[in-house]
Amino acid sequence: MAITQRVTILGGGPVGALLASYLGRRGYHVTLYERRPDLRSQDVGGGRSINLACSDRGWLALERVGIAETVRRSAIPMRGRMLHAEDGQLTFLPYGFDGQAIYAISRTLLNKHLLDFAARQPQVELHFEQRALSVDFQRHQLRLCDERSGERRTIDVDRLIGADGAFSALRESMRRQDRFDYSQHYVSHGYKELAIPPGPDGDFALDPHALHIWPRGGYMLIALPNADRSFTATLFMPFEGARASFAEVADAAALERLFAQSFADVPALIPNLTEQFFDNPTSSLVTVRCSPWVRDGRYALIGDAAHAVVPFYGQGMIAGFEDCRVLDECLTEAGDDWAQALAAYQSARKPNGDAIADLALDNFIEMRDLVRTPGFQLRRRIERRLHQLLPQRFTPLYSMVTFSHLPYAEARRRGQLQAAMLDALAAEEGIEELLDSEQFMPLAEQAVAKLESMSSARSK
Ligand SMILES: Cc1cc2nc3c(=O)[nH]c(=O)nc-3n(C[C@H](O)[C@H](O)[C@H](O)COP(=O)(O)OP(=O)(O)OC[C@H]3O[C@@H](n4cnc5c(N)ncnc54)[C@H](O)[C@@H]3O)c2cc1C
Repeated sequence: MAITQRVTILGGGPVGALLASYLGRRGYHVTLYERRPDLRSQDVGGGRSINLACSDRGWLALERVGIAETVRRSAIPMRGRMLHAEDGQLTFLPYGFDGQAIYAISRTLLNKHLLDFAARQPQVELHFEQRALSVDFQRHQLRLCDERSGERRTIDVDRLIGADGAFSALRESMRRQDRFDYSQHYVSHGYKELAIPPGPDGDFALDPHALHIWPRGGYMLIALPNADRSFTATLFMPFEGARASFAEVADAAALERLFAQSFADVPALIPNLTEQFFDNPTSSLVTVRCSPWVRDGRYALIGDAAHAVVPFYGQGMIAGFEDCRVLDECLTEAGDDWAQALAAYQSARKPNGDAIADLALDNFIEMRDLVRTPGFQLRRRIERRLHQLLPQRFTPLYSMVTFSHLPYAEARRRGQLQAAMLDALAAEEGIEELLDSEQFMPLAEQAVAKLESMSSARSK
């Protein structure tokens, strides 16, 4: 297909860079403006290694443009959660079945791969240190600032997509228009990243094939492996509060107390813990919802610009990758009629953006509180057993979100019905002993049949 139209993308983060490849491959002339310097030639992360998790939806979106294999080579599979109890006891809870895994990858390396790949598309131009300031929807013009010289200029745009993150300039210009719904919500918790270097033997200090969690009720520490055999740990804790909070941990003595009481096995892993804790920033966590995501058949929001979510399902970026795949499919179906494609993109993705925002907030409670309670672990055992006995008829919520391509909104709907059923089964007398016996089969049949009839009644 010979397409000569121009598309402008704001933001060269993971989603903007992937979208540039999708559109470049469709034959569009893509111009991408990124506020930061080119991270392929400069260290823009202060040398810190920050990683994130990629799972099936992300891989599919990467496969479609042909970059999944390159990314996978730099990723480390994590097959489950490794819980660290206060007394140091370790419990491994597998994420999925038959070795299913989520993959830890360096955020910078992933972004570099995606920018490199986009730059190799014949019609994609990348411009760095160019900050979008605002958009004029009447004149179809974008105002930009060159971050090096401070010079401002205005350019014409045919089609413009904002992949410029949670504080998007395009979204800000849309917000100033009539009938644009917008909300942002900060959770009470912030986070701080801490590096765990390789152990004295140069190897990983913890099992690299698990996502490590130290759940402590109102706060938690997690750690994901890096390819250089270090881990990046993230401490999630309330900003304020008398118990464990960033406000309370104001000096080295308070930090030592917190770790001695709550994460006793960690200081031995981080020799310069005090320095890192007080040098590294404490960042906030926001959920952004807005509507509409598209306007005039030529403007659209994508990724965090459309739906910033808290990171507790490890799906924020992946949801943005899925947006790219779906937008590409909508363009195909609409024969590259943008008005039609953008309308279809918005109706396909907006409910799913809302659903993953809710699921991520729910998972925060699960990760910090529930994973350490016996009730939670029993429900997870029941879920696994149900799936083992009736694999075609029952899939746990976590697997629907992480290892399937079911729309997030449908996964949330089914998950809500399943939660009530799991609570009822967990309350059955003697369930723990019954679970692994043949006598569990009739109970499982009955519970799943009831679930199916509730599910079909609700969807009528
Ligand atoms: C602690 C933490 C852990 C996370 N872990 C995971 C995880 O495990 N898995 C997962 O899938 N997601 C995770 N996420 C979410 C993930 O980081 C985001 O969803 C993802 O980065 C969104 O990508 P994006 O490209 O839409 O936005 P961003 O990554 O924010 O990129 C936006 C880009 O736009 C640029 N930009 C911003 N404003 C302008 C402007 N005015 N003009 C030009 N350029 C601009 C920025 O410099 C940036 O490069 C995590 C988030 C946090 C905070």
